[in-house]
Amino acid sequence: MKQADVVISGGGMVGLTLGLALAQGGFRTAIVDLAPASTILDPKFDGRVSALAYASVRMLTALGVWERLAPDAQPIREILVTDGQAGKPASPFSLHFDAQEVGAESLGHIAENRHIRAALYRAVEAQANLELIAPASVKSLATDGGGAIARLQDGSQIAAPLVIAADGRESRLRSEVGINVVGWSYPQTGIVATAEHEKPHNGVAYEHFLPAGPFAILPMTGNRSSLVWTEDKHKAPGLLALDEAGFNAELSRRFGNHLGAVKATGPRWSYPLSFHMAREFVRPRFALAGDCAHGIHPIAGQGLNLGLKDAAALAEVLLDAARQGRDIGALDTLQRYERWRRFDSFALGASTDALNRLFSNDIAPLRQLRDLGLGIVDAIGPARRFFMRHAGGDIGKLPRLMRGEAA
Ligand SMILES: Cc1cc2nc3c(=O)[nH]c(=O)nc-3n(C[C@H](O)[C@H](O)[C@H](O)COP(=O)(O)OP(=O)(O)OC[C@H]3O[C@@H](n4cnc5c(N)ncnc54)[C@H](O)[C@@H]3O)c2cc1C
Repeated sequence: MKQADVVISGGGMVGLTLGLALAQGGFRTAIVDLAPASTILDPKFDGRVSALAYASVRMLTALGVWERLAPDAQPIREILVTDGQAGKPASPFSLHFDAQEVGAESLGHIAENRHIRAALYRAVEAQANLELIAPASVKSLATDGGGAIARLQDGSQIAAPLVIAADGRESRLRSEVGINVVGWSYPQTGIVATAEHEKPHNGVAYEHFLPAGPFAILPMTGNRSSLVWTEDKHKAPGLLALDEAGFNAELSRRFGNHLGAVKATGPRWSYPLSFHMAREFVRPRFALAGDCAHGIHPIAGQGLNLGLKDAAALAEVLLDAARQGRDIGALDTLQRYERWRRFDSFALGASTDALNRLFSNDIAPLRQLRDLGLGIVDAIGPARRFFMRHAGGDIGKLPRLMRGEAA
């Protein structure tokens, strides 16, 4: 039987980052993922980009990942938030965030998920003490006072004091352990595509609220932007099935002409949108991280940032416990992580849910109220700067890695 200090089920962006943080702190770590590297690194696997808050960038820098990713990441210099209807001018009230106002070079970075995964894979391969086992999965878990044994699908076993599930929204291991989730589906689908435009975006990200949901234009390297186009789930299949000319016409109605002529390139992806929160984040010898623990609406582009914060906080709690000679799989150790992360995740999940409900409709009084809200926040400097710090992830108790220090 293999021995490790920590077994992580799920080598997505959160599982890989957590594995790196733990291995760099000295833990022998095994990551088990269902998909082989060739599938996960295939550009067709995931067409999304992620808006990485600067706290996440500091973490990736501290782990030695950022230097591999930076050439493919686009700094966000400004964010413009507007409200309107497809094909019509936006409301006169808007909200404008500018990195210069907080003395920063950027408000975060946009990176394609395929580049984030590739950078993480290269860092994982170069890391001693860290083994990536794929394709494989944890079939069952046995725990007792002395440790845990993860049994893999192929019959092999790994013994460790702690097993962490980072295997995404539909986590099999979370169900196997009997942790329930609360949640609901949104009547919306997230359409994701890349657009090429005539003029440079100058690092400006746009969040345009339309009645069906937010239409985000996220600047990528070159004259390209990634679209996160939230649409009524009944209308999305029709839009996705349009031919190129039809799709580009619908796209232009929503995108506007501020960047000149625009056209979608490459494949179109779609994601059903939902919210969920695990009732417990920990059990003895078991913890949840990332989308396995919580899934939120992409309206604020914070899901991955939240998962990376879990990874940073969990690594810190476990490394502190080991330095003090305490059992890293004991419930009281893991509860420190749960207390740190559960409320923060719920608060962000609830606020993104409320924002989506407030903005994704065409009810006139609500439209007036939210436009007034945008105008008020825009006019009040401290409020604007508060939201900028929030978007940058600099809110609440930051784990050491997110302050740019070693875990
Ligand atoms: C349209 C859209 C746009 C988004 N934009 C942003 C954004 O701009 N910024 C942001 O911060 N977040 C964003 N998010 C959220 C973000 O994509 C997720 O929060 C993030 O991908 C979660 O990462 P994860 O590693 O926890 O889970 P996942 O990415 O789901 O990874 C789970 C991993 O577990 C593996 N796995 C699954 N089952 C098993 C098993 N049984 N055994 C072993 N391995 C298993 C999978 O192969 C996978 O590698 C967006 C989400 C959507 C839908």
